[in-house]
Order: sequence, then structure tokens, then C-alpha cells
Amino acid sequence: MDFAYDARTEELRATLLEFMDSHIYPAESEFAAQLARLDDRWAWDSVPVLAELRAEARRRGLWNLFLPGEHGAGLTNAQYAPLAEITGRSAHLAPAVLNCAAPDTGNMEVLALFGDERQRERWLEPLLDGRIRSAFAMTEPDVASSDATNIATRIERDGDDYVLNGRKWWITGAMNPNCQIFIVMGKTDPTAGRHRQQSMILVPRDTPGLEIQRGMEVFGYDDHDHGGHAELSFTDVRVPAANLIGGEGAGFAIAQARLGPGRIHHCMRAIGIAERAVELMCARAEQRVAFGKPLSEQGVIRDWIAESRVKLEQLRLLVLKTAWLMDTVGNKGAHTEIQAIKIATPSTVQWILDKAIQVHGAGGLSQDFPLAAAYAGIRTLRFADGPDEVHKNALAKSELSRQRETR
Ligand SMILES: Cc1cc2nc3c(=O)[nH]c(=O)nc-3n(C[C@H](O)[C@H](O)[C@H](O)COP(=O)(O)OP(=O)(O)OC[C@H]3O[C@@H](n4cnc5c(N)ncnc54)[C@H](O)[C@@H]3O)c2cc1C
Repeated sequence: MDFAYDARTEELRATLLEFMDSHIYPAESEFAAQLARLDDRWAWDSVPVLAELRAEARRRGLWNLFLPGEHGAGLTNAQYAPLAEITGRSAHLAPAVLNCAAPDTGNMEVLALFGDERQRERWLEPLLDGRIRSAFAMTEPDVASSDATNIATRIERDGDDYVLNGRKWWITGAMNPNCQIFIVMGKTDPTAGRHRQQSMILVPRDTPGLEIQRGMEVFGYDDHDHGGHAELSFTDVRVPAANLIGGEGAGFAIAQARLGPGRIHHCMRAIGIAERAVELMCARAEQRVAFGKPLSEQGVIRDWIAESRVKLEQLRLLVLKTAWLMDTVGNKGAHTEIQAIKIATPSTVQWILDKAIQVHGAGGLSQDFPLAAAYAGIRTLRFADGPDEVHKNALAKSELSRQRETR
């Protein structure tokens, strides 16, 4: 067993770490200030400093690192994992600068894997180039969407077109006017088998009948580092039949394929968030004096610091093992581990952030430290890409059947 990163990963890590120090961390406050001055607060990728940083990232070869195969940087999951972790340290800025931010990453994967040549040319190329942004529209306000077979939006064939009717919410990125393309999941055949009723179709933003109803907040935050979350309505939205991705009935399978890499990317970045929280927690604990001694000398604070380190190391090993399994036995073969990291990471990182906030006193809840916003973001991960309970239910089911077979 070799725990070392390979030569290409080490080289990219060194380049990325230097870029974080020289460009990303120093730009964080300027990015926030420029964002606050925008006329349209959701148009976050029109912030000038973001464009400058993106150009510099590209020059340094730090671009589309997430995407395996011919369309991206060609890294394995095990190579990308430690890089994604580093970007998570500045989760509001670095992933977008490197063109490695959700939901575009998952959407690019869908187009690379399942799109036809015309779809790839029209939508994948500008996405890979960072010229436009995209959204993935599955969740609906009217049905329990953790069970994707409930999705009720209709996609009906009409001559050479498909016509969409339905409502979606929590659609990440959709408030951003530069989010030009939506991958929409709906039902083409409600009479087909449970997992063959759904299809995915490309809907350009300016299609008549597609209305952005409102932006949605997370604990009062705009969450606009992703382009904000939106509620959408589709009323007789007509698109060419050629916009269907992968054929009628393929939607459920594509959704499953999309979520594997998406989940591990979220987890890798979350580990970076937790690392930064531990750094802040230790610095604050050493500097702040209460009752005659630094907070770092209180047993309870040391307990939090030690527990945080142990939890973080456990998480990283599990995430790296999962990345390695995805590379060696495929996403399907790594299914149980993907579920395990999706269960373990958000709640553990939430625990670490909670302790880091506590050490900071009331300041930890404020805009002066990145902890409160990170806490809000991590809490959402216990829903996004599936609630904890759904993953636990599925993991327990496969464990029970594995044990049954062994008996
Ligand atoms: C920040 C954020 C970004 C998001 N981005 C997107 C996006 O870009 N595109 C998109 O389509 N969706 C997006 N979502 C939506 C997300 O995927 C859904 O919220 C999630 O799938 C759960 O669906 P639901 O909210 O309808 O919960 P429901 O299905 O109503 O479930 C409610 C609760 O029921 C319980 N439950 C459900 N099933 C089980 C079970 N089997 N066993 C035990 N308990 C269970 C769980 O506690 C669950 O939290 C986003 C959500 C958030 C918070």
C-alpha cells in the first residue's frame, strides 16, 4: 500500500498551492467587494477579478482538472482528489477560477459522456472554455425529490419537438444570467418501467415559457458563489427533439452516472474547508486569552482540536480510497464507498466547523471569518445530491444483503 501522491499529482499540487498563496487568498476580499458592487447581485461570474484569475489559472495549466478523458485534463479521481481538497480551502472562489465548480462539472461530464457531437459542440465547448455556465434541473417543489422516480415534469413529444411543463426548485446556478443552458430531467413515458420513465433534455435559458420565478436563500445567504439557487417554471416550453440527451428513458441512468463523481468532488472540497477551519481554530485558540491563559490551554479546546484532526485524517483516507476504487473498479464498483463518504463528510465537517466557530466566540458567526458561510454551505450538503437518510438506507440495504450472502 502506497500513501504517496504520484509525480503528476505532486507537480500540480505544488503549482496549485503556489497559485492559492499568490493569487486566490489575496483576492478573496476583493472578490467579495466587487460582487457586492454588482448591479445584478446574481451575475457573479461577471466580477472582473474572477476573469483575471481564470486567465492566470489557464496560463498555469490549472484548468478543467476535474474532467477525465480527452475533453479535460485527463486526471484520475485519485489524482484530482488532493487538488480538489486544496480548492475547497477557498470554496467560494477557487473552484470557479479553475473551471471546476458544481454544477457545471457534473453537466460537462453528462455532455462529455452522453451528449452527441452537435450537443458537445454547441454546449460542452463553451462550458469547457468557461464562457457560459449551466444548471441541472431535477428537484421539484411538489414531490419528494430524494426519490427521483417521483419527478413529475412532463417532456412530451410533439412532431420534431419536445414540450416541457412543470416546476423545479433549488436549481443551482440558475439565477446567474450567464447560466445559458439547463439540463432538465422529466418524464417522457409515465407508463414505462419505474427507472425508464425519465429523460434529460437541454433547454436554453432564453426558450419561451421558461421562467426564473425567484432566487432561494440558504440560511439567509444568497449562496451566489454558485450563481444562486432558483425556482423555475416550465410552461409549454418547446425545444427540438435533437436536444434530448442519450435517448428517451435514459434520464434515470444518466442522473446516477452524474452523481458519483459529483459526490466525491463535494467531499474532497469539504475536507479542504475543514482543514482551513482547523487552522483558524488553532490560531484563534493560541491568540485569545480568557481566565488568565490562552484558550489553547483549556482541555476542552484541545479535545476539539485533537478530535478534529483525527476525524479529518479518517475522512481523507476514506475519500482517497473511494477515488482509487472509482479509478480501478469503476463508479458502480465504488458505489458503497461513495455513499459512505457522502454520509460521513458533511456531518463530520459540520462538527469541525461548529467547534471552530465556538472557539472564535461570537465573531465566528459573523462575516469577519469564513466559518459561518462555510457552515451554511456544508449543512446544505446533507441534502444536495441526496439526503443522509437516503444514502444510509441504501448502504444498510447492501450491507444486509452482503451479510446474508456470506451467511
Ligand atoms: C444548496 C442546495 C443545492 C441544490 N442544488 C440542486 C440542483 O442544482 N439541482 C437539483 O435538481 N436539485 C438541487 N438540490 C435539491 C436536492 O437535491 C434535494 O433537496 C434532495 O434531493 C432532497 O429532495 P427534497 O428536498 O425534495 O427532500 P424530500 O424528498 O422531500 O425528503 C425530505 C426528507 O425525508 C427523509 N427521507 C427521504 N427519503 C428517505 C428514506 N429513504 N429513508 C429515511 N428518510 C428519508 C429525509 O430526511 C429527507 O431529508 C439542491 C439542494 C440544496 C440544499
